[in-house]
Amino acid sequence: MKGPMDFHQVIRHCLRCGGKNLPEDPSRSFRCEECSFPYFINSATAVVGIVTDERGRILLIRRARDPGRGKWSAPGGFVDPGESAEDALRREMREEVGLELTSIAYLCSFPDPYEYKGVVYPVLDLIFVCETESLDSLDSLEDSDEVEGHRFLAPEAIDPEEIAFPSVRRALEVYRRGLAQD
Ligand SMILES: [Zn+2]
Repeated sequence: MKGPMDFHQVIRHCLRCGGKNLPEDPSRSFRCEECSFPYFINSATAVVGIVTDERGRILLIRRARDPGRGKWSAPGGFVDPGESAEDALRREMREEVGLELTSIAYLCSFPDPYEYKGVVYPVLDLIFVCETESLDSLDSLEDSDEVEGHRFLAPEAIDPEEIAFPSVRRALEVYRRGLAQD
C-alpha cells in the first residue's frame, strides 16, 4: 500500500477542459497550458469549539471515524462554501452534540493537514470559545457515525496524546495558558 499523497499530487488534469499540461507553481497553483484555467490550492476552513461546564471542564467527544478514530477532540467540522465560521460552528455543535450556542469568541487558528482516504488536504482550523444555553442535551446524546461518547475534563487533566488533531492539542494549550494568566 502506498502512503498518503498530498492534495496537489491528485490534480492530473485541468478541471475545466481536461487538458493534461498543468505546470505546477510549487504546490500552490496550476495553470492549464491549453485553456489557461488557473487552479489554486487553498486551505479548507474548519471550526472547533471549546465548551466548558460549570466547573470549567472542557467538553471532548470521541471520534467514531477516521481521521483520529477512537481518539478525542473538541466538537467542530468543516465550513461549507458561503457559510460564516460562526454559522458553521453553530451548525456543527447542533449536529454533533445537540448544543445551542449563545456566544462565540475567537481564540486562535492553526493549520492542520487532514488525511482522508489516502489524500492529505490542507486545512485551517479556527478555534472558538463558546457558551451554551444548557448542556442538558448531552445527557441524551446517542452515538452517531461521527461521535461515540463524550466527557468533560479539566484543562490540566487532558492528555495531549489522546487528542486526535495537532491543531486542537495546540489550541487547548493556548486556552490553558490563557486561564493561567487570568
Ligand atoms: Zn484547461
